[in-house]
Amino acid sequence: SKWVYTFGDNAAEGRASDRNLLGGKGANLAEMCSLGLPVPPGFTITTEMCNRYYADGRRFPEEFDAQLDAALAYIGKVTGRRFGDPENLLLVSVRSGSRASMPGMMDTVLNLGLNDKTVVALASDSGDARFAYDSYRRFIQMYSSVVLGLDHEIFEEILEDAKARLGHDLDTDLSAEDWRDIIGLYKEKVQEELESPFPQDPREQLWGAIGAVFSSWMNQRAIIYRRLHDIPESWGTAVNVQAMVFGNMGETSATGVAFTRNPSTGENALYGEFLVNAQGEDVVAGIRTPQNITEAARIAAGSDKSSLEKLMPDAFRSFVDISQRLENHYRDMQDLEFTIERGKLWMLQTRSGKRTAKAALKIAVDMAQEGLITKQEAVCRIDPLSLDQLLHPTIDPTAQRNVIGTGLPASPGAATGEIVFSSEEAEEMSSAGRKVILVRVETSPEDIQGMHVAQGILTTRGGMTSHAAVVARGMGKPCVSGAGLLRVDCRNGTLMALGQTFRKGDIITIDGGSGQVLKGAVPMLQPELSGDFAAIMEWADEARRMKVRTNAETLADARMARSFGAEGIGLCRTEHMFFDGQRIVSMREMILADTEKDRRAALAKLLPMQRSDFLELFEIMAGLPVTIRLLDPPLHEFLPKTEEELEEVAEDMGVSSEKLRQRTEALHEFNPMLGHRGCRLAVTYPEIAEMQARAVFEAAVEAGRKAGKLIVPEIMVPLVGLRREFDFVKTRIDAVAQSVMEETGMTIEYLVGTMIELPRAAIRADHIAESAEFFSFGTNDLTQTTFGISRDDAASFIENYQKKGIIEQDPFVSLDIEGVGELVRLGAQKGKTTRPDIKLGICGEHGGDPASICFCEEVGLDYVSCSPFRVPIARLAAAQSAI
Ligand code: ADP
Ligand code: MG
Ligand code: MG
Repeated sequence: SKWVYTFGDNAAEGRASDRNLLGGKGANLAEMCSLGLPVPPGFTITTEMCNRYYADGRRFPEEFDAQLDAALAYIGKVTGRRFGDPENLLLVSVRSGSRASMPGMMDTVLNLGLNDKTVVALASDSGDARFAYDSYRRFIQMYSSVVLGLDHEIFEEILEDAKARLGHDLDTDLSAEDWRDIIGLYKEKVQEELESPFPQDPREQLWGAIGAVFSSWMNQRAIIYRRLHDIPESWGTAVNVQAMVFGNMGETSATGVAFTRNPSTGENALYGEFLVNAQGEDVVAGIRTPQNITEAARIAAGSDKSSLEKLMPDAFRSFVDISQRLENHYRDMQDLEFTIERGKLWMLQTRSGKRTAKAALKIAVDMAQEGLITKQEAVCRIDPLSLDQLLHPTIDPTAQRNVIGTGLPASPGAATGEIVFSSEEAEEMSSAGRKVILVRVETSPEDIQGMHVAQGILTTRGGMTSHAAVVARGMGKPCVSGAGLLRVDCRNGTLMALGQTFRKGDIITIDGGSGQVLKGAVPMLQPELSGDFAAIMEWADEARRMKVRTNAETLADARMARSFGAEGIGLCRTEHMFFDGQRIVSMREMILADTEKDRRAALAKLLPMQRSDFLELFEIMAGLPVTIRLLDPPLHEFLPKTEEELEEVAEDMGVSSEKLRQRTEALHEFNPMLGHRGCRLAVTYPEIAEMQARAVFEAAVEAGRKAGKLIVPEIMVPLVGLRREFDFVKTRIDAVAQSVMEETGMTIEYLVGTMIELPRAAIRADHIAESAEFFSFGTNDLTQTTFGISRDDAASFIENYQKKGIIEQDPFVSLDIEGVGELVRLGAQKGKTTRPDIKLGICGEHGGDPASICFCEEVGLDYVSCSPFRVPIARLAAAQSAI
């Protein structure tokens, strides 16, 4: 079989689409040759060879030898040289290159083929002895470290010693003589370390380098990188062997890297750097300060070093021309590597360039407007998750960072504020107009209010799925969680960090994008939602089928979600409306009531508050659908947790602490997640559901009257497993609707549906759909109940599961499509059998996760619902999954 593909001289055996076989670098080198661009000739050894090499116990098949010879002869023919021939010297580079660009692989070896003899030939050939010996010493350094496995530091030391002895600062100050002496020392060192001489035979050198590239596929760094980035081992790597061109042949030679557009701003202007008389990675290695390629960039940077445009105008013009051709050809911003040898330009690499989220937006929109790509392609060019970076304030990248600790980047964005240690302090200070950061060991549902008013949240315990992390992401608040080296002492009101003590009122900044905690205030960049962002969103909206709603119950969240383009509320969690001020008091009265009559009396106090909440939500949503979920959590969540609090609450309520304690104990559950919650509450206490339904209907009537149009609320019954449960609750809701209609003389249209969040509900969805008018897949609970894993307790072991390769992704972050997804699919299908026009949606964290959204499109859901800050992400992901 064919293991080697040649390229060069305006032709190539491979092409850009052969990426899998030739790796990214090889495929693009071939493509550039076919385009007629100046590329030093060479050949690519395929990724299949890599796999074969491992299958055969790190040996090459016999027929490979002949193919390698033929390919070397091909380079020789194109260049008019011969590998290993001192009379007619051909030197090569050996470059690794897999399908995905992969740090951790073997570094490139340049100038291969040099030895004590050929270096003399190179010197006379080029008429530049200094260049020849500089190349040879580079080769010994590179080859010894990447192929022979010696520590590169030992060569640095020899070089530094020599420079000190000779009184030179820069490598470029050394003469041919100096380098020749240093080479002697290098070779002695190799002999000493390896007890064998530095290989002189060019073929031995070549085989060694090829073997080293393939071996590096299985080195520890590469294996870890692959695991982190989901790159299969079976992809293998390719090896590129290519004729050398020299950027270190004096003042008319140079080497550089460039982007066809600015990778950090997206500006449509060539952007790059180069060094005169340099080779390979010198530009990025930071040995000397690189120079700007264009005159415009040089002026903008205020640099006094000449631009390539000025210094080598001819080479510059060909480079500009080629970079435009490549961008047009690939229809994407390119990242280019080039070398100029005595005034002649050579292209050494092209690939799609990495860019910031901001640049990605600008480039996609510009290219669509230039007609280079379609609007749909532009939409597909943006990673939906990257929008997160754009929706929140971020720390100015040029700002000074005084880091006092690091935790997990739990929720993106940066925030500055005064330290507070409790929810109450947060509320007090923020109502006095101060900005605060809530600092806790970990948060619990009681902290919701404090989290709401805080600019950001910092916890010292808990992972990416801890309460603080999940709630903060939902609120779109920056959060750093699990900053384990910080010590919070709530009693004394101190935060200890790196030996410094911070107190309430001291200013800190958290960066939820990196997990850093910083001392003091730091300059921020504000999000930009118009311009390119708006254009991409508009094009996404044209392309998508699914609607995007939001999970919101506060007015601020609802408004924010609308401004991000939400098309309704998919989940309004009413329990969050019962914590504020007077409400929690009435709620507790209701819970403490001994009789239905007393319960109804307490509920009557909650009714007007609940009604006004709904009224405002309906007004903000202006006729868009609003799904309101009946009370879901177990009642004990509303009762005091500590003895101290209990005394206080009892006194406030005017009941004995004994009674409150008894009730709290009676409500205690061993497993509240699977306890007395959801529709089970409505079955036990129908009057709670009735009050909520009445509030919904009365608000709908009033909102409708004000707006002059019919408001059609959607009431959602949580945690249904049995159709009869649902019917029981629905009958009560229907009765309330009937009375409100009679009382107001208005017709009310409404839907009653359920969450599908128990496996039984998915399995019996056809029966449930006979009475339920819509389903919303509550995949948070459905994941808990399908896996039998409590989300609140998962943090302590899920990460371990990931590390050990048992699960790839946290199923609470990205939907487990094979398992939980199968239940969603089943529920959707079954629901449609008995109610073909049933409305289907998803709520919960997965509604904002691109991979999960793609799955929702596939099973034909009508909408996804997610937290406000995820709305743009969901709009984009929904569009991409429809395209
Ligand atoms: P990486 O994947 O790390 O970018 P490359 O294989 O692209 O490694 O090599 C790094 C650099 O080495 C190139 O950017 C180029 O400057 C130099 N280089 C590689 N091959 C050659 C060659 N044949 N002639 C001159 N320079 C080369
Ligand atoms: Mg490169
Ligand atoms: Mg639920």
